[in-house]
Amino acid sequence: MATEQSVEVFGWAARDSSGHLSPFSFSRRATGENDVQFKVLYCGICRSDLHAIQNDWGFTQYPLVPGHEIVGEVTQVGSNVKKVKVGDKVGVGCLVGSCRSCQMCAQDLENYCSSCTLTCGSLESDGNLTQGGYSDVMVANEHFVLRWPDNLPLHAGAPLLCAGITTYSPLKHFGLDKPGIHVGVVGLGGLGHVAVKFAKAFGANVTVISTSESKKEEAIQNLGADAFLASNDPEQMQAAAGTMDGIIDTVSAVHPIMPLINLVKTQGKVILVGAPDKPLELNSFGIIVGRKTVSGSCIGGIKETQEMLEFAAENNIVADVELIKMDYVNTAMERLSKGDVRYRFVIDVGNSPLKST
Ligand SMILES: [Zn+2]
Ligand SMILES: [Zn+2]
Repeated sequence: MATEQSVEVFGWAARDSSGHLSPFSFSRRATGENDVQFKVLYCGICRSDLHAIQNDWGFTQYPLVPGHEIVGEVTQVGSNVKKVKVGDKVGVGCLVGSCRSCQMCAQDLENYCSSCTLTCGSLESDGNLTQGGYSDVMVANEHFVLRWPDNLPLHAGAPLLCAGITTYSPLKHFGLDKPGIHVGVVGLGGLGHVAVKFAKAFGANVTVISTSESKKEEAIQNLGADAFLASNDPEQMQAAAGTMDGIIDTVSAVHPIMPLINLVKTQGKVILVGAPDKPLELNSFGIIVGRKTVSGSCIGGIKETQEMLEFAAENNIVADVELIKMDYVNTAMERLSKGDVRYRFVIDVGNSPLKST
């Protein structure tokens, strides 16, 4: 319930599993002593926003304001806030809270804290559901607010807060961030296209692996990949067997992973960052022979997210985006469901009328 001090916010929410978004007014907590309040300027549309509004995972509570790739300008800070000041550009990604005391939190891995609070659809300690960045104002604890590097574009940088860190973190953690390493990237969507850019910036030799040969030119000419591998061509796949140090698999549909495991060298790694809703088939011989690893990775901690933003700014890495206004969001979702976007929609929240007319 709104209290006297709470902040009136306008956003767009889904009310049921039709996923249709429409204007919605709600309130956020008043800026607490450790909080940052900011005017939302841009918010990326992540594939998981679409899953959430349609209740694909079965735990969505409505109404839901999605959005966890949020960039804006600080309008108010609490008395204890040191990290940013009014007027600074900031970002909020997938997380707005964690216990801050467990083993994971102590290692700056808030993303693996068992009681972390997601930016949208999580229950907060005050009993309210968190609501995301398809709205005009955000309030968040300063620990979960990222400082925005001066030379990083706001709109094209926004998707780095989810798509960027989701691929940067496993490249670093699994040692795929070294010059000369051969990295495969499976799937060329929101995640895959930034995975290619980060891996290239680390100096890796990057091969894009995709079922659609039509992406070859795009992968090599526009994204700077070194090679392209058509995964539905057995000859090409056989020729590339045992050549890669690691693979970042971004595909979120059910797909065979044994052919990917076959592509990595002895002791190579296949890291899943997409989340198919059905189990994938794993043949144990395929990983025992060659001591191979199949692993997963989920976004990244706040410290690493800040480091990723700075690395992106230094290396001119942004997402390829299509900027839209809020009233286009339902069409954007429909296009996203068909894979019809290169590669991320970003909502120009700051210049969109949000209230219902
Ligand atoms: Zn996301
Ligand atoms: Zn914790």
